[in-house]
Amino acid sequence: MSLTDAAAALRAHGRIAVACHEAPDGDALGSLVGCGRSLRAAGWDVVLWAPGDAPLPADFAWLGYNDMVRSAPADLEQRLLLTLDCGSALRLGADGELAVARAATSVNIDHHADNTRFADVNEVDAGAACATVLCLRLLRLLEVPLDQPAAEALYVGIVTDTGRFMFSNTNAEAHAAAADLIVMGVEPDAVFRHLYEGKPAARVRLLARALTTLDVRANGRLAVACITLDDLEQTGADEADSEGVIDHLRAIRGVEIAAVIREPRAGGGTLKKVSMRSAQPHVDVARIAHAGGGGGHAMAAGFSMEGDFAHVIELIETEFTRA
Ligand code: 5GP
Ligand code: MN
Repeated sequence: MSLTDAAAALRAHGRIAVACHEAPDGDALGSLVGCGRSLRAAGWDVVLWAPGDAPLPADFAWLGYNDMVRSAPADLEQRLLLTLDCGSALRLGADGELAVARAATSVNIDHHADNTRFADVNEVDAGAACATVLCLRLLRLLEVPLDQPAAEALYVGIVTDTGRFMFSNTNAEAHAAAADLIVMGVEPDAVFRHLYEGKPAARVRLLARALTTLDVRANGRLAVACITLDDLEQTGADEADSEGVIDHLRAIRGVEIAAVIREPRAGGGTLKKVSMRSAQPHVDVARIAHAGGGGGHAMAAGFSMEGDFAHVIELIETEFTRA
């Protein structure tokens, strides 16, 4: 059983680097903070590595970013690398494969069905609602206690990855883990306020602009919206402010796939980043993401590619209607 192997590897290595995927979401950061800081408090020498150059999302800044490094630690050869919510080594960044090879040993804990099992020990459970419930399983096995901030961080992963306990990955373990974390001191309404209230006005302006680009295609089964660098410029919004747009598309009657295509600042206006959500259990967006060179889950997936919006939309529509 790989979770036992993961725990054994951690017991054998006092020095570790804990990493999540680049462009981290609530589950990635919740895992990094909740698992990484708990291991540190229990005596491990821990480096928290949040790969990438882009600023970490303001939405989760209350979890605390000051103890995180953005590139692989220089002494990685002496550390066990523990990756959380990371479907492939490339999700650690361009040097991700090198980092995995450099580490003294590696442990990969994840819930993406398309995980490439790139580490020495791989604990991949696609049935888990989020990576933070796997972190909770691991910490329990190691008998590592959680303080209130760590419990709150793990709770964030559950709330965000299940879409506030609404998506099809929501299961009994997600609710049971949430209940256990509440017993440890998590206040759901405080987390709700951190996550969903106090939005910057710029985000709402970006949403308004994005929704004007709504394009319903494939006989009403595909809804697409586009966000340009100019939209970010004109609204003063951050890249991360595009997050909620897709939920409005998925909620349209008859829509099976929602896609938001945006231009990352680092891409210079030619690169497009695609987020996709499925509205129907039988429609697998990971298949389309794979066709675009990306990955993810059946219900939520993404990819990046060079080209104009029309080209990207065509790829999505062709792959979708090909099935
Ligand atoms: P989001 O749309 O929120 O960025 O991502 C949804 C899901 O798709 C997440 O599970 C994320 O890990 C995955 N995903 C998004 N973009 C990419 C990508 O470029 N490559 C891979 N492999 N997975 C991605
Ligand atoms: Mn996740």
